[in-house]
Amino acid sequence: MRYISTRGGVEPMPFMDAVMTGLARDGGLILPESLPTIDTGKLESWRNLPYLYLAMEILGLFIDDMSKNDIEALVEASYASFSHPQVTPVRKVGELYILELFHGPTLAFKDVALQLLGNLFEYRLQRTGSFMNIVGATSGDTGSAAIHGVRGKEGINIFILHPHGRTSPIQALQMTTVLDANVFNIAIRGTFDDGQAIVKELFNDLDFRDTYHLGAINSINWARVLAQVVYYVFSFLKLRRAGFDSVDFAVPTGNFGDIFAGFVARRLLPPGCINRLILATNENDILTRFVNQGDYSTAAVRPTSSPSMDIQVASNFERYLYYLRDGDTARVRADMEGFAASGRLDLSALRERVARDFASTSVSEEQTLATIADVYEEHGYLLDPHSAVGVCAARELAGERPVICLATAHPAKFGDAVRKATGREVELPPALAGLEERQSRCQILDADTATVKDYVRQHALTSRH
Ligand SMILES: *Cc1c(COP(=O)(O)O)cnc(C)c1O
Repeated sequence: MRYISTRGGVEPMPFMDAVMTGLARDGGLILPESLPTIDTGKLESWRNLPYLYLAMEILGLFIDDMSKNDIEALVEASYASFSHPQVTPVRKVGELYILELFHGPTLAFKDVALQLLGNLFEYRLQRTGSFMNIVGATSGDTGSAAIHGVRGKEGINIFILHPHGRTSPIQALQMTTVLDANVFNIAIRGTFDDGQAIVKELFNDLDFRDTYHLGAINSINWARVLAQVVYYVFSFLKLRRAGFDSVDFAVPTGNFGDIFAGFVARRLLPPGCINRLILATNENDILTRFVNQGDYSTAAVRPTSSPSMDIQVASNFERYLYYLRDGDTARVRADMEGFAASGRLDLSALRERVARDFASTSVSEEQTLATIADVYEEHGYLLDPHSAVGVCAARELAGERPVICLATAHPAKFGDAVRKATGREVELPPALAGLEERQSRCQILDADTATVKDYVRQHALTSRH
């Protein structure tokens, strides 16, 4: 399996190169040259596989520059840190099927991908005798999942910028209480956007980037999408064993990463297994407008109780566009250049095709909190606000098939919203209990590129040891 760019400007490359590259050098996103499919015989042979074995099978379809043994070892190491034996269990809650993706070390679904990505980086650097310095900005969830993905790994230092005093206290502590010598938390006196802009400038300084082997962990890395394909298939198989041949999925979406993994899973499985993907947005509804009107155009970001979806430019959208344009890379490039210039893209001519893949609705703040309250009153089950956005959309758009709703964060991570909706305190799971008493380490810096660059220079690895 070789990997190409959505914009057609790079030579096809093997999987490990795609993982190390992140964003393609022509500015496009990386995709497999063709998407693998499996037949019903293969599906039947996967019928009872535990999560780890299923992950090994699926990764094996996309990776041919790593031995089977190495893939197995990586998968085992990546999911040993999950607290549930099934890794991503499905819970039946009334008529709903909740796919719990929050049993990893930082209690959000991003662990599923970033635990694997950290191990892939380590694997590659061991083999090449090299090193890297990861630099990223976060508003909360991505930073802590990335830090937990690479903490203590040889040949990797990680620098994560978060906006000082603007993440939730728990989110900041999940990052700053990691004391491994290779982890550097930087709280900048500024906003998330300031942090993002600084990181971009570091990457745009090509000398700096090459000297320090800068690496990125944002959601455009192909390995992150691939890791997420597994739980779609895993949960579908679970419902298939319960007698259902076809299901819908409801996915709370911001960057289009998680739901794009659902799209890949839908193409991988025999036709009809995954009927429809319900794309659920909060009040930041660019993707809902795209699905329902063909209008992909940015608007101002509105803060909501599901902050990890407060996004108006979906960084993975270009991957889906590639399939909508039937692999016409010149067309994708023109579309994206037009979008970069004007902030809008008219895809209304393709609406019918989009509707075969997705149904979508935007969920208001009131609906989000009402859903948390309803599900708790009816079933005694607490949803976090991101997961509630998905459940609300599922209830609105469900057909006759069962809907598997992705629960992307543990409710304790967003205790304020849950308390507001239900009046209940969420019991802290062990990963969060006593966080405030733990020792923490963090450097506070001005939101200034030169200052951050100096700090990174002083603490960066320049060789493997
Ligand atoms: C990141 C995140 C999302 C959105 O995922 P995308 O892949 O960006 O669509 C949803 N819920 C939670 C809790 C998240 O951290």
